[in-house]
Amino acid sequence: MATFAELKSEGIKLFGGVGAWVFDEWKMLNHTFFDGKNKPGAIIWGSTLHGKSLGYYHVTENLIYLNKNLLRPVYPTNDLKWGIRHFNKRVASDVLLHEMIHQRVRQTGGWVGETSHNNERFVEEVNRIAKLIGMNIKAKIIKQKTIQDELIWHVEPGCLTLKELSDFPYSSRSYNYYYKKQ
Ligand SMILES: [Zn+2]
Repeated sequence: MATFAELKSEGIKLFGGVGAWVFDEWKMLNHTFFDGKNKPGAIIWGSTLHGKSLGYYHVTENLIYLNKNLLRPVYPTNDLKWGIRHFNKRVASDVLLHEMIHQRVRQTGGWVGETSHNNERFVEEVNRIAKLIGMNIKAKIIKQKTIQDELIWHVEPGCLTLKELSDFPYSSRSYNYYYKKQ
């Protein structure tokens, strides 16, 4: 298994400055939210693999895939070159954190349930991390329920919807957190 240093140097070879940035960020997030216990894997910037999704975690390869669109400049600029100076690091970091939750769940026994988001383990991680961030939110598994003869997915009052759960933590940040001058 490759070490963090080897993976980072591979990332730099492939992606330059953003390759280095994302590994440093991974290390910081690992320390802050996972007691440094996530085991490192490759982190790839790509463009089309999973359509519109901003990130993806490949469980068997322990690979985090991040959408290259995340590297687009935050503010209108004449400098059309994508790169380390202008992209929204807070958004990219949150997408990385999301994929690291999948990484954590996978590396600590995996999940059983409806989907990779709507299951006990993921929900537990969301609540744990939200608390560390200081977010006032609550997640609960979303279950099917019959209401007036109709089977619906029932979100308990005050809890994250499936979409919000699937887009945590970026679904729960304020606009200002990302788009105020950083
Ligand atoms: Zn996900």
